[in-house]
Amino acid sequence: MGLTPMMQQYMEIKENYKDCILFFRLGDFYEMFFEDAEVAAKELELVLTGRDCGLESRAPMCGIPYHASNSYIGRLIAKGFKVAICEQVEDPALAKGLVKRDVIKIITPGTYSDSNYIDESKNNYIMCIFVDTSKNTVGLSTTDISTGDFLTTSFQYNENIILDEISKFSPKEIILNILENTSLISSITDSCNALITRKPLNYFEEDTNDLLSSQFGDEKKKLDSFSLYSSIGLIKYVIDTQKMALSNLNRIDTYSIVDFMTIDTNSRRNLELTENIREKTKKGSLLWVLDKTSTAMGSREIRRWIDQPLIVKSLIEDRLSGVEELHNNLYLMEQLKETLKDIYDIERITGKIANFNVNAKDMISLKVSLQKIPNLKLLLKDCNSSMLSSFYNRIDELEDVSELLDISIADEPSLSVKEGNIIKSGYSIEVDELRQAKIHGREWIAALENQERDFTGIRSLKVGYNKVFGYYIEISKANYSSIPEGRYIRKQTLANAERFVTQELKEMEEKILGAEEKLTSLEYSIFVEIRDKIEAEIDRMKHTAKIIAELDCLCSLANVAINNNYVKPLINEEDVIDIKEGRHPVVEQVISKGEFISNNTKLDVNDEQLLIITGPNMAGKSTYMRQVALITLMAQIGSFVPASYANISVCDKIFTRIGASDDLAGGKSTFMVEMWEVANILNNATRKSLVLLDEVGRGTSTYDGLSIAWSVIEYMTKDDSLKCKTLFATHYHELTRLEKDIKGVKNFSVAVKEVNNTIIFLRKIVEGGADQSYGIEVAKLAGLPNRVIDRAKEILSSLEDNKIHDKLDGVAASNNDTSKGDASEVAVDIIKESANAHIKTGKGKKQKEDSFEPQMQLNFTDIEKETLLKSIASMDIMSMTPLETMNKLYDLVKRAKELL
Ligand code: ATP
Repeated sequence: MGLTPMMQQYMEIKENYKDCILFFRLGDFYEMFFEDAEVAAKELELVLTGRDCGLESRAPMCGIPYHASNSYIGRLIAKGFKVAICEQVEDPALAKGLVKRDVIKIITPGTYSDSNYIDESKNNYIMCIFVDTSKNTVGLSTTDISTGDFLTTSFQYNENIILDEISKFSPKEIILNILENTSLISSITDSCNALITRKPLNYFEEDTNDLLSSQFGDEKKKLDSFSLYSSIGLIKYVIDTQKMALSNLNRIDTYSIVDFMTIDTNSRRNLELTENIREKTKKGSLLWVLDKTSTAMGSREIRRWIDQPLIVKSLIEDRLSGVEELHNNLYLMEQLKETLKDIYDIERITGKIANFNVNAKDMISLKVSLQKIPNLKLLLKDCNSSMLSSFYNRIDELEDVSELLDISIADEPSLSVKEGNIIKSGYSIEVDELRQAKIHGREWIAALENQERDFTGIRSLKVGYNKVFGYYIEISKANYSSIPEGRYIRKQTLANAERFVTQELKEMEEKILGAEEKLTSLEYSIFVEIRDKIEAEIDRMKHTAKIIAELDCLCSLANVAINNNYVKPLINEEDVIDIKEGRHPVVEQVISKGEFISNNTKLDVNDEQLLIITGPNMAGKSTYMRQVALITLMAQIGSFVPASYANISVCDKIFTRIGASDDLAGGKSTFMVEMWEVANILNNATRKSLVLLDEVGRGTSTYDGLSIAWSVIEYMTKDDSLKCKTLFATHYHELTRLEKDIKGVKNFSVAVKEVNNTIIFLRKIVEGGADQSYGIEVAKLAGLPNRVIDRAKEILSSLEDNKIHDKLDGVAASNNDTSKGDASEVAVDIIKESANAHIKTGKGKKQKEDSFEPQMQLNFTDIEKETLLKSIASMDIMSMTPLETMNKLYDLVKRAKELL
């Protein structure tokens, strides 16, 4: 027994697509066989059946209707599978013997572009990494075929940089030229969920057809020899899967890894830049606060801005001035937002055009969007900031494209391009004539019913249509006798009626159906012509789409700045970070309005280079440290910041070592992960970096941990090449003595107050170290049994009697080469000027003022009301322009509403 011819055909095709699930077209179904069927049945919850395949046992089989395939494909792709679509490539009616079949497309996680299933607010990237071990270099190219972005870079081999780039783009799929299992491969698989596809070296070689020149033309010249290989690999893979070249991949953006701030994977996660740590969703992330964009393009762009903060002062300032101009002109900002919200995803529509899967409804969305651009341009006419005025000068209104769409595509077209009703009347004489013929035929048929009723006298006579028999005249059995002899030709007998046709009716039917068939195919070919014409303008559309995306980001940042009371930061290159009344952008959103306590921060590379932050658990140390990093990062993406004043030094890298997590799968314990992260920071931070270290050394014994933390501080502050700006939170209070020994180390603590044996968190950062962590009090608040709490207190007091402080003094003295002399003890001085309880000075000791109730500091409403009244009273209407008055009024109404 051998395989049946059809199963032989299946096997031959499957042989070339071993790593895919093969969707094999049989009639109206895609069938899967053997292992593919078993996997798909499990993943898609399909019934697993069998099919006689010529072998002894039946082939496992499952199937899905072809018209419902998209959702099944979407589900398989989301689970990381590749799907090869195998179609009948000749008309079964004309086929001699077995119908020819072939794979027409491979859908993979990184090349998936079905807009119904990919997130419109995220790019769907695929990356190709080419490692040249002999030259110790890496070429790295990344593309999103749904938008046409193609970015590439090259650098000296460094595993961390590769991982950072992966974490920056979060690709769904990575193509690599490494076949063996190296440490890089395991680091990549540990750090991301991307599907890894490995290809042999010759896959990346230039071929005789000069693939890149035909894809990119002269743009190819931008590539160096390493990014050339990764680009070849990527383009080859795209063509292999799409089975054609995509015209929207026509520009190459080359970048250097030092063009953007470096943020490693851990830090991105810890700072919750685009998703929260727990649920991995947007809510609670910085993106959640900053993304108030109106278009899908803007939403992807602002995510990119957050993922890639700038490090060139002038570029940051360009964005900031754009945001400032919109911030100061509310009317303009609202008008822009209003216009933007009607603009569809032009970028992804161009992707569909390039991929030949655009439909007429997409074309209408494109038209509607393009029609908004002249208005957008007009709004930008009088703008002064460099970015907004360059948008005005550069934006292409694409009037020719929008006019073509307006005259050619029906206003409410069918969804499928193969069902007709897509071309507008008046665009093509031929289409209009065929439509007319169709209408005329239908009118003739409509008149036939009355004409035959009158002629036969049968009132119940009906003219109808069905797909199998076409048009017919139906007469009930009761009226047979009234049918005039020879008038009708019998066609079909039903239980209670007979169906007939006439010669004329048959001829008219042919005319109508012929016209319909011709019309749909004519409409489709005209649609393809229009699509091709528009495809030729893809580059212009991408250019305009990019401007719209950036404009949307500036509007979003301005809007957020106004709503959240942010200020424009100053940007410096003097290594100084100076923040007054800074707030955590996310925490302030999730706690009750006005309850967030602001704090100041001053960091530089001289006297305040490393701040040791002590204070009780739950006091707010982590929040404070993260807030400094987030404010810095926000400034560098061009956003206003949550503070009353900020002067931010451009940082090249932000590192965080926050929280402990096991990486058991990666073979690392909690402490090992902690040390690995610290090593990474010490080896890669520079003078321009900002480093957050939270509880370094906590994962081991107290003395080991303390010694490591101590030595790390010395390393960071004493070595001239490092001197990175650092926030160092710790419960090792012994470390606070380093302030007097090392220049640049400064102690701060989070103030608390003890009232009737409980602690009240004041959330204020004050100068000086804390003398205890109140861990036991926090444990009590958390509900530990009283017996445990009492015993812990006893143990603590006996431990405290065994002082190690004298010994530590000895250690400090042995390393005391930059002594600043004794720090004097200064009393705590909390100044309660306002309900904000702003603390001007103070040396960190717990507060003992029982009369100071915490609620007092949180009542902002009265102050806000008074400020509002003062604002109204101080308005000098006569000296204001109408626009200024309108803006002011808008602001006042908004503030008043918030107070109600
Ligand atoms: P631990 O030492 O136990 O890790 P911590 O000192 O790092 O604690 P955080 O985790 O920063 O404390 O803060 C605890 C909670 O206090 C936060 O979840 C937040 O709700 C609140 N909080 C922190 N800072 C502030 C602030 N400045 N204003 C208002 N609430 C704050």
